[in-house]
Amino acid sequence: MSTLAEVLATNTREGDLYTTLPDGRLRCHACGHCCPLPEGAVGVCQVRFNRGGRLLVPWGYVGGVQCDPIEKKPFFHAYPGALAFSFGMLGCDLHCGYCQNWVTSQAIRDPAAVVPPTGTSPADLVREAVRLRARVLVSTYNEPLITSEWAVAVFKEAKAAGLVTAYVSNGNGTPEVLEYLRPWVDLYKVDLKSFDDRHYRQLGGRLNPILDTIRRLEALDFWVEIVTLLIPGFNDSADELARLTSFIAGVSPDIPWHVTAFHRDYKMTAPADTTSDMLLAAAEIGRANGLRHIYAGNRPGQVEDLEDTRCASCQTTLISRVGYRVLDYRISSDGRCPTCGTFVPGRWSDRFEGQVASRPFVVSRLQVVH
Ligand code: SF4
Repeated sequence: MSTLAEVLATNTREGDLYTTLPDGRLRCHACGHCCPLPEGAVGVCQVRFNRGGRLLVPWGYVGGVQCDPIEKKPFFHAYPGALAFSFGMLGCDLHCGYCQNWVTSQAIRDPAAVVPPTGTSPADLVREAVRLRARVLVSTYNEPLITSEWAVAVFKEAKAAGLVTAYVSNGNGTPEVLEYLRPWVDLYKVDLKSFDDRHYRQLGGRLNPILDTIRRLEALDFWVEIVTLLIPGFNDSADELARLTSFIAGVSPDIPWHVTAFHRDYKMTAPADTTSDMLLAAAEIGRANGLRHIYAGNRPGQVEDLEDTRCASCQTTLISRVGYRVLDYRISSDGRCPTCGTFVPGRWSDRFEGQVASRPFVVSRLQVVH
């Protein structure tokens, strides 16, 4: 029987995101590691490798497919209530001990994280998404940047079918990968995990490529939302949160910031769970530093009005939510506050089309690779 790594090695195609260096090595541009790869070498992500002077990349499978409310991604300023057909491949370029998707993200690195790949095609994925009435197709669960060629192939089909497309990403990008994605990706969620380079190095990355990615995403006019998982003792000091939220506000005060509660998971079992009071205090810091749209996540019904969208000018409540559920929607057909007429930053439909599902559900029709 083949190992998982052997199965994945045969589900590949030549990538687009690489150049050949003068000494013959290949430079991968899919993520901020920018690995230089000699013949036979595998990247930090463990899914892209140099074989015979060509960079081979993951192709033709998914590690997981699920339908989520778009609020779960989370996007709060893009098509509220929409169903987000979500797929991932396997592998990641970071190795966060608290990862909540570790079964797919750490599939090759960690023997405890085993999930069988499912063979599929872009056309099959899009057909299934349309059948289930999804409005948005999302690359998520593992780090989508490292499997960008596959995501773009899927998104080309999705665009032809009239769907919106999205990345849920750690933001460890490069100028090359963002230019490559720009025609095909509409919405982009970045996990800004810390504002301390030493913390990022513990997770296997660096802070600067993430900050560069956020600036570029905004300049390239992707719709951007940012999430920070608040981990007691790791990234929750007032000073770090002040620097983090000032940075976001400096890029744009209209970027929604989701500060979400940590719960013990994977290998990070030491810190206590984040309380509602900690989320409220972090939100206050974000507000003091100029952010206009702040949300508290993972504690439904316990964070005052920090699940709702309010007008930044007159404070009218525009969307009421509890958890992933939309309770009320009052944004006008041209994306404005009905009370004062201020434009609400985001991507809005002409009208609220109801919520297809307020809970995730699994998609089980796809065929398994042997
Ligand atoms: S995706 Fe990132 S980690 Fe993987 S080979 Fe490319 S640069 Fe290296």
